[in-house]
Amino acid sequence: MGVSKMTGKFLKVKCGKCKNEQVIFEKPADDVKCLVCGEVLAKSMGGKARLKAKVLEVVR
Ligand SMILES: [Zn+2]
Repeated sequence: MGVSKMTGKFLKVKCGKCKNEQVIFEKPADDVKCLVCGEVLAKSMGGKARLKAKVLEVVR
């Protein structure tokens, strides 16, 4: 990271279905799915995603 063009944070979230922990971008271009079970973790809204998963921490 450290690229100044990047706007937005990364969030560590926990899948509510399989408990997988995954780091996602808060403004994804597309829906973000769990890499393990395929559950949608964040719905792309054009800007900030609508989170479906529990946020554990903000990753800088
Ligand atoms: Zn999952």
